[in-house]
Amino acid sequence: MKKYKLYIIGAGPGEPSLITLKGYKILKQADVVIYDYLVDKKILNYTKETAEIISVNELYNNRYCSDFSKRQKEINKLLIKKVKEGKKVVRLKNGDPSIFGRLSEELEDLVRNNIDFEIVPGVTAATAAACYCGIPLTSRGVSSCVVLTTGHEDIDKKDNFIDWQKIAQIDTIVLYMSVGNLKEVVNKLILYRKNKNTKVAVVSNVSKLNQKLVVGELKNITEKVKKENISSPAIVIIGDVVEKEKKFNWFKNSKKILYTGISEERYFEDGFFYHIPMISIKPLPDYTELDNWIKKICSNPQPKTYIDWLVFTSRFGVYYFFDRLFKLNFDSRKLNFLKIAAIGSSTAKKLKEYGIIADLVPRNECSDGLVEEFKKLIIKIKNLQPKTNILLIRSDISDKSLAERLTNLGYNVYSCVAYKNVIPEDLPDLDFNFFDEIFFTSPSTVRNFVSRYGNPPKNIKVRTIGKVTENEARKFNII
Ligand code: SAH
Repeated sequence: MKKYKLYIIGAGPGEPSLITLKGYKILKQADVVIYDYLVDKKILNYTKETAEIISVNELYNNRYCSDFSKRQKEINKLLIKKVKEGKKVVRLKNGDPSIFGRLSEELEDLVRNNIDFEIVPGVTAATAAACYCGIPLTSRGVSSCVVLTTGHEDIDKKDNFIDWQKIAQIDTIVLYMSVGNLKEVVNKLILYRKNKNTKVAVVSNVSKLNQKLVVGELKNITEKVKKENISSPAIVIIGDVVEKEKKFNWFKNSKKILYTGISEERYFEDGFFYHIPMISIKPLPDYTELDNWIKKICSNPQPKTYIDWLVFTSRFGVYYFFDRLFKLNFDSRKLNFLKIAAIGSSTAKKLKEYGIIADLVPRNECSDGLVEEFKKLIIKIKNLQPKTNILLIRSDISDKSLAERLTNLGYNVYSCVAYKNVIPEDLPDLDFNFFDEIFFTSPSTVRNFVSRYGNPPKNIKVRTIGKVTENEARKFNII
């Protein structure tokens, strides 16, 4: 009998890259992803395009009101159905699946149905909150034990499981699901002789764009939380370790930078980068024009008559050019008579992936740099007879002046659009108080930002990657 398997993966607290590497690898291959309401939707970008994405929340809202066991049954039925269809199914849970994740309820039905499973741990909200505030949950001489508990249980219920008297004895107490009940929990702890001056940190939306922290003491934390409007999801850390926040809160002291470009890694730079790309690269609906160029280049027995230089202005141009080249059943060898230029080192790097080392990468990584280099070539070759032909591979909105300037130098310039550069759908609302700086990586990131959010307030510093982007920012008067 065929064995079926379900992967249950912890997504981490919010920020997508806090998923484990193993979780990410599995998620990338999934055919079906069934995710919980607390999972940040951005993580779903890691899934493949054809994956079926199901939100448990929608499933649940559509059918039932507040009956948890009915809801759970419905989720279990769906999981089992999808797995038995032979699909690669991932159950994606917020934080770590083993902590307040209703894991047992799901596993029971899997076992009953003879379905194998693998559980991939995740970063739980408690440790994420602690790390993002510089609070060690254990610390030599201060705290050698931690308890993770829910604060959600009805405290006055007779048959409740939580023994607050015992919990009050523990050095560090971390509460999940407790914002609504905070007053009752605090009162219970004080009643059981926890010192009312014990430090408390409440952290909401850990690792997300709206992360908030309030620090107080048992005696005043409830009022502070109310005053600061802290809402769920939040973690409450109670204990002397919270004192360390004052000294170690690296996050509060970091410059928070909104990074608007597509490539995301910005580690070891000055600041804490939030990545919200203001552009999205999409294929064209119709590739007849590019296909015709490729066919011309690749099928001609005397290729020199058409094109001498192929110029790529971005790595996306390289990607879509080769995508079409392969679809037409050609490969890189067909380009061996051409000279190839790349603007920027990432464009050159992309070319290398296809086996091509660019003949020309301007030192100044922008169109100005390219024009300079082509000017030098003219001087070298003197009389360009017959004219040298250049084909520019570009986006639908790229700067037309590059073609013009090359034409003015005496080249024969053609250009072909290979992809679209559009404003991303579903850009989130932003709280400008959260950021110190915005970093723009191209003129289109500036335009799209302004069209979605308007001009940023003057207290936010605007930085740009180079002159062209800076000029665009000046046009909007934001720099
Ligand atoms: N399995 C999850 C917990 C689910 S219970 C985990 O391991 O983290 C839901 C509770 O988790 C919320 O009420 C809140 O207390 C906490 N939580 C989840 N995500 C959070 C976040 N990004 N910030 C703060 N608390 C969070």
